[in-house]
Amino acid sequence: MNESSFAFLEKYLNNASPTGYEASGQQIFLEFLKPYIDEWHLDNYGTVYGVVNPGMPYKVVIEAHADEISWYVNYISEDGFIHVIRNGGSDHLIAPSKKVNIHTPKGIVKGVFGWPAIHTRNGKDDPSPTIENIFIDVGAKDKDEVIEMGVHVGCVITFEDTFSVLNEKYLVGRALDNRLGGYCIAQVAKMLKDEKYNLPFSLYIVNSVQEEIGLRGAEMIADTIKPDIAIIIDVTHDTLTPLLKPKKLGSIKSGDGPVLTYAPAVQRNLLELLISTAEQHNIPFQRSASSRSTGTDTDAFAYKNGGIPSVLISIPLRYMHTTVEMAHKDDVENVIKLMLETVKSIQAGQSFKYF
Ligand SMILES: [Zn+2]
Repeated sequence: MNESSFAFLEKYLNNASPTGYEASGQQIFLEFLKPYIDEWHLDNYGTVYGVVNPGMPYKVVIEAHADEISWYVNYISEDGFIHVIRNGGSDHLIAPSKKVNIHTPKGIVKGVFGWPAIHTRNGKDDPSPTIENIFIDVGAKDKDEVIEMGVHVGCVITFEDTFSVLNEKYLVGRALDNRLGGYCIAQVAKMLKDEKYNLPFSLYIVNSVQEEIGLRGAEMIADTIKPDIAIIIDVTHDTLTPLLKPKKLGSIKSGDGPVLTYAPAVQRNLLELLISTAEQHNIPFQRSASSRSTGTDTDAFAYKNGGIPSVLISIPLRYMHTTVEMAHKDDVENVIKLMLETVKSIQAGQSFKYF
C-alpha cells in the first residue's frame, strides 16, 4: 500500500457515505480513480463508474458498493430527544454511548446515543437496546431547539468513529463494508495503468449505491451497462471470533485470503477461472457456500440482462456493521491481486457457458 493509496483509503473511510447520500464518497473515489481510467459516468441515483478502454463490444465489470449503513431521524420528542429508524442494517445493540453526526442542511450536528445509567437500573430487568428505545441527545432543551439546529425528520445519522490500524495488521473502522471494495477496484485500475496493460475489452470499474437496503444501485447499473461478466467484491464474516458458530456459518478466518463463494447466482465456470488464477499465482483463498442468494450485488448482476455470469470475491471481516469492523491487510492485498490477475486472464468474447 503506497502513500497515495493509503491517503485515499483513509480519506474515503473517514468520510460518511450513507445509503442514498453517497455523493461525497463517490467524489473521493473518482478523484483517486480518474488518472487510471479513460472516461467516467454518473447515474441518476449516484452510482459512479470509470471505464478503461471504452467502446469495445465485450464488457467486464468489477464492482463494489459505495454506501454505508446509517440511521434516519424519524421522530423528535417535545423534550428534544431524537428517535431513529434504520437506513440499512444498522445495529441497535451497539448504539448506546456512541457519538453521532447528524447530516443536516445546516451542516453536521453532533449528538450522542444516550442510555440510562447502570445505577438507575435494577439489574434483573434491565432494558436491552432496541430500535424502539434507543435515542439521540443533541443537547437541546426542547423540540424547537433541535429544529433550530437544522435537524429535521429524514436527516441521516452516522457514527463518528474514524479509521485506525491495529497491530500494523488490521484495518479498523466504520464501513470497511464496503469501502475496502471500492479501494480494491480502484487499485486494480491503478495497477493496470501502472503496467501499461492493454485490455482486449472494456473494463468498467463500478461503485454502486444503495447496496445496504437491497442491492438497488447494482440492479440499476447492471441494466445500464449490460456487461458480459461481473466480478463483485464485498465483505463476509470472519467466523472464528467469539460467539459465532463456524459449523453454521462456515469456517472463515481473517488473514487466510479472499473468500470465494459457491451459490446459484455465482457462475461456476467463471468461479473456476478465479480458482485456477489464484492457484497459478499462489494467491491464498478460502471457500464458502450460500444457499439461495449471496445477499450481495452478485445477485443483482447475475439475474439481469438474461443472466450475466457473475462471481463474488469477499474480504473476511470481523464485527460487520459495527464501528470497529476489522479486516486483515493481507486479505485486501490478495483480493486486489486476484482481481487483477483474473481481469488479465479474461479473453475478449470469452464464453462461460457450461456446454
Ligand atoms: Zn453491509
